[in-house]
Amino acid sequence: MADEAEIFDCRQCGYCCHGESTVSLDEHDVARMCDYLKMDFAELCEKYLRVTGKVIQMKIVDGHCVFYDNGCTIHPGKPWRCSQWPIHPSMLVDEANFSAISSSCPGIKKELGYRRFSEILRQVIAKQKF
Ligand code: SF4
Ligand code: SF4
Repeated sequence: MADEAEIFDCRQCGYCCHGESTVSLDEHDVARMCDYLKMDFAELCEKYLRVTGKVIQMKIVDGHCVFYDNGCTIHPGKPWRCSQWPIHPSMLVDEANFSAISSSCPGIKKELGYRRFSEILRQVIAKQKF
């Protein structure tokens, strides 16, 4: 069975934690983060979150996620979208998604080519049961 390492090798560049916005958190992310940081939602919001209507994201500090410090500082408590990145099912739908993700993540082994990459990704996703 295919292994994620065949298509992805994180370079620890931190690129995915930089930018002017972060992934959105769902209710499970918020609960996990509260548990991990041992604080209630009000405190979590005040210190770490940016809430815009129903959209909850992490604050940005100096151009990166508030939890980034030469790596993710809340690894076990991070949002599911961070855990999933960059092994994203959307790459199976459209080669343009593969191109977009591989151009923003140097860990993607794009030298495999889209066809081979997709074959392995399909097996990896089936194993992980996304
Ligand atoms: S952009 Fe890709 S290679 Fe860089 S830290 Fe994020 S997942 Fe790893
Ligand atoms: S929670 Fe961690 S992995 Fe997700 S963007 Fe912030 S620092 Fe990066």
